[in-house]
Amino acid sequence: MEPVLNYINGTFQPAASGHTLETVNPATGQVITTVPRSAARDVADATQAAKAAAPAWGARTMEERIEWLERIADALEAEAETVAQLESLDTGKPIALARRVDAARSVANFRFFATYAREQTVQTFTAHGAINHVHRSPVGVVGLITPWNLPLYLLSWKVAPALLMGNTIVAKPSELTPLTADFLAKTLDRLELPPGVFNLVHGYGPDVGQAIVEHPDIRAISFTGGTATGKIVAATAAPMFKKLSLELGGKNATVVLDDAPLDDIMDGLVRASFTNSGQVCLCGSRILVDASIYETFATKFVSAVEALTVGDPTLDETQMGSVISKDHQAKVESYIRLGLEEGGVLLTGGTSETAPVDGVSTEGAFLRPTVLANLDASCRTATEEIFGPVVTLHAFANEEEAVAMANNTEYGLAGSVWTADTARGHAFAQRMETGIVWVNTWLNRDLRTPFGGVKQSGVGREGGAWSMGFFSEITNICVQQP
Ligand code: NAD
Repeated sequence: MEPVLNYINGTFQPAASGHTLETVNPATGQVITTVPRSAARDVADATQAAKAAAPAWGARTMEERIEWLERIADALEAEAETVAQLESLDTGKPIALARRVDAARSVANFRFFATYAREQTVQTFTAHGAINHVHRSPVGVVGLITPWNLPLYLLSWKVAPALLMGNTIVAKPSELTPLTADFLAKTLDRLELPPGVFNLVHGYGPDVGQAIVEHPDIRAISFTGGTATGKIVAATAAPMFKKLSLELGGKNATVVLDDAPLDDIMDGLVRASFTNSGQVCLCGSRILVDASIYETFATKFVSAVEALTVGDPTLDETQMGSVISKDHQAKVESYIRLGLEEGGVLLTGGTSETAPVDGVSTEGAFLRPTVLANLDASCRTATEEIFGPVVTLHAFANEEEAVAMANNTEYGLAGSVWTADTARGHAFAQRMETGIVWVNTWLNRDLRTPFGGVKQSGVGREGGAWSMGFFSEITNICVQQP
């Protein structure tokens, strides 16, 4: 594959230093291509281009920008298979998942914001003989920093509302997954989006991400990634009073109440646990089960998990591919070992040594879906984010205890409750300290709804009006007739 290049001011170019890094297919360990190892100088060039393009882009009408989003959606939709192939190659995720989730949602993000924007009207308030108009202007140049687990899905979730609201962009994808961000840049270039409106700078977080957060001309930062990085981003951006949206890590609870129809929900529970090898920030990694049904649940769950097809991501039938890298595999395995040290019992799965995946490259970062039981709900394995195909099972005696267990973590991104009684599920959900709770479903997303976490899972919300609010500045204009 051709080397990936930065996209700055409408041209593809290497890092100013000429340095590169390699992107690797985690399912085979093979180098795919090289990527610019950029630095602050490249971010400065991209920001200068974005700043120069901002007045003209911001002056376009909302309708013109909506039409741009539609054009981008159409172009990505026409190339959906390429997007899925690139995403699967770069992440090791199954091609079927990349088609169904990554490629489809990247199109849907642009389409959604276009449609949603058309439905909006200017907010007004009338009082004391005057009319207040809530006027929205672009923020200016915005910085978008994204992780590796859902590369184009999450980047497009930021690019679409940022463009819609009239901003120009300096974006940085994860150094582990640059391919689809590059594909987006090529698509925008082919569509002749004006130079400087969208700029893409590749490289490592402390070099490129940090330079984006520090740059005084970048007025808003939308960051999705780990909590530790989010703290650095927040500490850097806060004294500059930048607008900041932080979508961070999670340790989500899946709560199975005693009346849950186990046979009907098992597929949903396996999906909530192991989609994308458990590398979705919303995956439920702690399953809390009413003690009265615990044994039955554990047996059914383990047999459903063992039925998953794990292996070569290029095959249509594969349901779970590799994890993102050998390093990440080692991190996940260290948690499996920690879980055993903390007194856990392995119900299925294990490390690549104890439970190897058959028929895959020995250089690939593969792990079997792993279920640990018998752990105290407050131990490290059960409270720290692993972000891999590992879940822990815990029994609770009553709902009070279930609520306490669910909330016993520093995170608060998402959760799910499974019950035959939706009113009971709804009531339980309100007691969970998280930004999102699903009742009898998981990752069921209406893009108009607020998305984001509480506690150490983040600050702010994305989605519909929340994204449009983040990517704009508001001026209240109060008009009274003379
Ligand atoms: P990460 O924090 O290591 O990296 C995220 C991005 O930040 C990457 O592009 C990285 O290069 C960049 N970065 C690193 N250091 C930086 C710095 N000092 N300044 C600015 N940018 C910097 O996260 P990751 O390992 O890529 O992704 C996994 C994490 O992301 C998990 O914790 C997961 O829960 C989280 N995540 C959260 C959501 C959500 O919506 N809440 C969604 C997906 C992933």
